[in-house]
Amino acid sequence: MGLFADHQPMFVEVETTTYCNRRCDYCPNSVFDRGLRRNEVRMPEDLFYKIVSDLGRNHFCNQFSPHNYGEPLADERMPHLLEMARHEMPKARIALYTNGDYLTPELFERLLPSVDAFVITQHGEKMPPGVKAIFDEHGGSHPKIRYKTAQSIKLNASNRGGLIPIQVNRRKACGVVMNELHINAHGQLILCCEDYLARKTFGNMRDMTIEEAWSSEERMRVHRANVRGEFQLDQCATCGYGRMT
Ligand code: SF4
Ligand code: SF4
Repeated sequence: MGLFADHQPMFVEVETTTYCNRRCDYCPNSVFDRGLRRNEVRMPEDLFYKIVSDLGRNHFCNQFSPHNYGEPLADERMPHLLEMARHEMPKARIALYTNGDYLTPELFERLLPSVDAFVITQHGEKMPPGVKAIFDEHGGSHPKIRYKTAQSIKLNASNRGGLIPIQVNRRKACGVVMNELHINAHGQLILCCEDYLARKTFGNMRDMTIEEAWSSEERMRVHRANVRGEFQLDQCATCGYGRMT
């Protein structure tokens, strides 16, 4: 099991679809056309299964989320995919990050057995009607739902490795690479959650196990440079957050 047995990623994020129905101005989906329906890429189900079963075999017990820059609930396979994830990773905390636009009381009930936490961010002016219906049915709140507006994102907005033209405080150093694993809909192991365009990849999950991905020498080299603040990748050298609260 190697490194994975001693030190698991805190977060594993796997993108099942690149499509998002929104174009928020603090998101690279507003600048690039990757998130459009006509460009949609979906992760094949067998690859999703390979990743979650690999994680389960390695006793993954931290947070798993099925997203990157696509809206997970725009993927109608999501209830089935998360049942699979729940079955293969019984010890993981499965957190579903969503804009809530596709959520309905029926879909919520279907997802409940698989999902430990629903993190719903309202990106528009109003609470999505399906989310309102869920709250109405449950007396105003539900223990598995964390609901927030996009205000906090706007205040702390990241420039996504220099992709979004907003004023940021540059990072002095970064320890993200050896804390998290991010896999896009193509199956590429990407640098981090900021790597919208997959500018730095470490191979494809079709060709390697989760243990090989996690202990990749190249990833460790990037990590060691980043924690010293000796950024060698352009996106790291330009990466930063907006005003911190
Ligand atoms: S809803 Fe989320 S993923 Fe979609 S454009 Fe807005 S911030 Fe980006
Ligand atoms: S500094 Fe590099 S590795 Fe760290 S979050 Fe930014 S782009 Fe990702």
